[in-house]
Amino acid sequence: MSNGCKSNAPSSSGIYGPLTWFGNMVENCLKYAEAGRQAGKRVVGITCEFTPRELIIAAGGMPACLCGGVFETIAPAEKYLPSNLCPLIKSTFGFSVTKQNPFLEMADLLVVETTCDGKKKMYEMLGRDKPVHVLELPQKADDPDAMEHWVAELRKLKQRLETLFGAQIDDNSIRHAIRTMNRERALRRDLAALMKSDCPPMTGRELLDMKSIIACMPEDFVQYEKALSMLPGRTLDPPAESRVRVLLTGVPVPHGAEKVVDIVENSGGLIVSQENCTGIKPLLEDVDEEASDPIRALASKYFHLPCSVLTPNTRRMDSLRALVHDYRPDCVIDLIWQACITYDVESFQVRELVTNELGLAYLRIETDYSPSDSAQIAMRVQALFETVRAGSGRERNID
Ligand code: SF4
Ligand code: SF4
Repeated sequence: MSNGCKSNAPSSSGIYGPLTWFGNMVENCLKYAEAGRQAGKRVVGITCEFTPRELIIAAGGMPACLCGGVFETIAPAEKYLPSNLCPLIKSTFGFSVTKQNPFLEMADLLVVETTCDGKKKMYEMLGRDKPVHVLELPQKADDPDAMEHWVAELRKLKQRLETLFGAQIDDNSIRHAIRTMNRERALRRDLAALMKSDCPPMTGRELLDMKSIIACMPEDFVQYEKALSMLPGRTLDPPAESRVRVLLTGVPVPHGAEKVVDIVENSGGLIVSQENCTGIKPLLEDVDEEASDPIRALASKYFHLPCSVLTPNTRRMDSLRALVHDYRPDCVIDLIWQACITYDVESFQVRELVTNELGLAYLRIETDYSPSDSAQIAMRVQALFETVRAGSGRERNID
């Protein structure tokens, strides 16, 4: 909440080029993928931010995120998978069952990783229809042996891509891909940084929508540049100063699963920071463009990702401290997809950090993709905001 935001820039109801562009994100990506395939490029499906898109791009591939965010694909998945599994895993697999994800259907290879157990085992099912390459992600975040293992895993991925695509991936092509991905990260980081303002010029939902499931599409870069020049000074309706500033942490919010984001922002909140894999988490660190061994540089960046599947995951707490300092939220909402054990267990530490050390109100929301609990979530979010507005949110944990 802040004091007065005035501007002559376009209002949130105005026609807005970059928002319109990203509003057609799936169609844009489809056109790009189809044109790329005609030019001899390959679609490579990925499902996690630990996968270095740079290696895929260096091999002449187009990395497409396959993470499912759609409620309707869950029932078909439950014919094969247990129902008490994270909705993200079920929705992703449901697209395979229904064959409704064109990027999965187009993919020549799926690059997946050993993160949580549910995903890891689901990949075996995906592997019945598509070639799958599994990256074995070490779990001990600060162990030097773990880093060496991760470097070796990335070298194996390079070999697999070279063999499958008949491509030679040299250091220069990797460095070129690193520069392109760093550029994308920088543009998205700059967009996110606009939310540091007392009067953020977009909603958290708009920011979330401004990313494509295929990385490094040149037209996206053009639209990011336009958004960065057009957005500053834009006013929101209702105005930013009347809303409660929220930091959202926890699980990723894939395309289609924006239920909680929308509830928060329709209840008087404004999500100023998204500390998750669909938000700023993968953008916090770039890859060293000058490193003598670019694969080691990639390994270093990606292994630093503060995901709850690692132990310990102290980097996430450090990141939360820094984001609270920079984005000045009034409260923190921790989103957990049902049956996500690692983020659920870690929520204890997040709550402790937020309430005891940072002195902010904290709300944990555990849900799935079904709309059935939306009214109940809205009531809890409104209670959180009343506490914040009453000025007591900084003293107690309201969950
Ligand atoms: S939260 Fe962890 S497992 Fe999920 S996409 Fe991010 S890095 Fe991967
Ligand atoms: S949200 Fe949790 S359970 Fe679901 S895929 Fe990600 S890490 Fe696994």
